[in-house]
Amino acid sequence: MPNITGHTELVGLMAYPIRHSQSPTTHNLAYDKIGVDAIQLAFEVDNDSLKDAVQSIRALKMLGSNISMPNKTVVHQYLDDVDEAARLCGAINTVVNTRDADGNVTGFLKGYNTDGMGYWQAMKEEGIDFKGMKMVLIGTGGAATAIAVRGALDGIAELHIFNIKDKFYARGEEIVDNINQNTSCKADMHDLDDKALLKELMGQADLFCDATGVGMHPLEDLSNIPDPSYFRPDLIVTDTVYAPRETVMMKQAKEAGCAKVYNGMGMMLFQALIAIELYTGKSTPVDYMKEKLGI
Ligand code: NAD
Repeated sequence: MPNITGHTELVGLMAYPIRHSQSPTTHNLAYDKIGVDAIQLAFEVDNDSLKDAVQSIRALKMLGSNISMPNKTVVHQYLDDVDEAARLCGAINTVVNTRDADGNVTGFLKGYNTDGMGYWQAMKEEGIDFKGMKMVLIGTGGAATAIAVRGALDGIAELHIFNIKDKFYARGEEIVDNINQNTSCKADMHDLDDKALLKELMGQADLFCDATGVGMHPLEDLSNIPDPSYFRPDLIVTDTVYAPRETVMMKQAKEAGCAKVYNGMGMMLFQALIAIELYTGKSTPVDYMKEKLGI
């Protein structure tokens, strides 16, 4: 339990629903460890109360706030600046109250998307140099688009995105246009029903990511990949799902002999640690957090 005093600073978490979130546990463990006198609290904020809630970051001189659904795609209109990757993927999960040279918060609010940063930091922590890689990505929702844009900005050479033809498909087409116009990555978009093309492109890829909800409840018995023959043993395989820790897709990849298969725990941890560093300027010991969170 942190020792809360008159000096303790506040970090928010603004979403609805939000009471189930693990984020305050992660943040408060980290602030304690790095010796920052701050706490994170969760607030039930929806689109109707978001404007006032963001203004309260300035009024209360908060360090900033995490932002989750339904606010990620609309919060930008209340901010003073937005990081390039967050702008290109159209979603913000971290609002930072920027500081002046003396370290005091200024009320100038900048939005970031640390989901994408977290995924790629997790790759780096595994010793994977992804610059120049060809990637196949399934999904065009919040997690997938954050991964796609950050990867394209940070050196992924080719990105082949697949999605089912649902309401998210058009968003994928927009993201592909944004990536092709603003980065040196070559991106294209395909129907996930085209399994022959999926198999062909997975056969040429270095890195594969499933960033859909397939593999987690209530779709925990399903995989977007028809069978293990889609995986080559040297393909790096990632899933954004972290509960369960091993999805059906990850089992298929292991059955095919893939040695590098990762779930979404790394992404989840690093999106938090990157946000904490943006708020406080301090980095948190990764091994300590992994041990405490049972990762
Ligand atoms: P979202 O609702 O924004 O997007 C959902 C995506 O899944 C869309 O692309 C949609 O078309 C696809 N989809 C839905 N049902 C499908 C089906 N039956 N078959 C194939 N595709 C289907 O969700 P999101 O926030 O992008 O989350 C996606 C996944 O990523 C979830 O499993 C979530 O838990 C995970 N996630 C992990 C982290 C992390 O830190 N590890 C962070 C965010 C999200």
